[in-house]
Amino acid sequence: MKKKVIILATGGTIAGVGEEGKIVGYIPGSIAVDDLIAAMPKLKDVADIEALQICNINSDDITDKIWIRLANTINELSKDPNVVGFVVTHGTDTMEETAYFLNLTIKTDKPVVFTGSMRPATSISADGYMNLYEAVCVATSNEAREKGVLVVFSDCIFAARTVTKTSTYHVTAISSSGMGAIGIVRDGDVYLYASPSKCHTTKSLFDVKSIDKLPKVSLLYFYADADPGLLEYAAKSSDGIVIAGAGAGEFSESYKSIIEKFNIPVVVCSRIDGGIIFKENLLCDNTVAADNLSPQKATVLLRLALACKIDRQNLQEIFMKY
Ligand code: ASP
Repeated sequence: MKKKVIILATGGTIAGVGEEGKIVGYIPGSIAVDDLIAAMPKLKDVADIEALQICNINSDDITDKIWIRLANTINELSKDPNVVGFVVTHGTDTMEETAYFLNLTIKTDKPVVFTGSMRPATSISADGYMNLYEAVCVATSNEAREKGVLVVFSDCIFAARTVTKTSTYHVTAISSSGMGAIGIVRDGDVYLYASPSKCHTTKSLFDVKSIDKLPKVSLLYFYADADPGLLEYAAKSSDGIVIAGAGAGEFSESYKSIIEKFNIPVVVCSRIDGGIIFKENLLCDNTVAADNLSPQKATVLLRLALACKIDRQNLQEIFMKY
């Protein structure tokens, strides 16, 4: 009996349609998942495919409601012993946030593999078909179990916590910067070389079974002579704040004097790709160091921590653990 893989489609460039042969000026989230699968008959040689259209949108329109629906759908469907793994097709812009959210909230050891593409399905040498094929191969792999959520892109396998988009146009845009890939796919065979060490999936405390939305967190990017009024404005309408500071999470004296007065949690990251913030780097006692989490992923973890009522004392520990 062939293994069963469920593809959950959300849209993005992999389902994008534009002028035949062209790369720019297309509309993401235009092709239905059944048509995407029909264009890749080789998928059926790898697994029995079941498809679910979760939404069909540009990933810049992804919301907390879609994240929660994805997590709860995977948690429910993973109970089926015939299902060996899942593939999530997603736009590349915010793929890293959704992958990290699922990494923290799904309760299965079965592979959950994200993929997408940089070129629309109607372009010359569209990369989506190969990426989808390789993602399905990884979803059927026994070796890919217990690795947390994975992202497969351009023959490489990345871990959800460290994956990020690093280019606006390269077909290798999805990568892991300094942390690198944890494996590769070649002719459908999966080669894994490392395992993520931070807490994820079945060991994670985060559960979204009984919530339908997440608290609001604002992300502010510090830059030379940044207006501190932005901080006060954001704090008024947010449950928490993430700051992408300069260097090792630094900001101006005027930022510091405002942040010190905040009663809502403030998490400090670096605007540098590859930045690590240690507790010793913190300029204000009431802030939390994000370790090496990117600012956009820190918003995901902070929203979940607030949703699960993690108190301020334990927030730093959460950011070291996840
Ligand atoms: N804007 C697109 C999206 O994220 C880009 C892509 O998929 O590559 O949906």
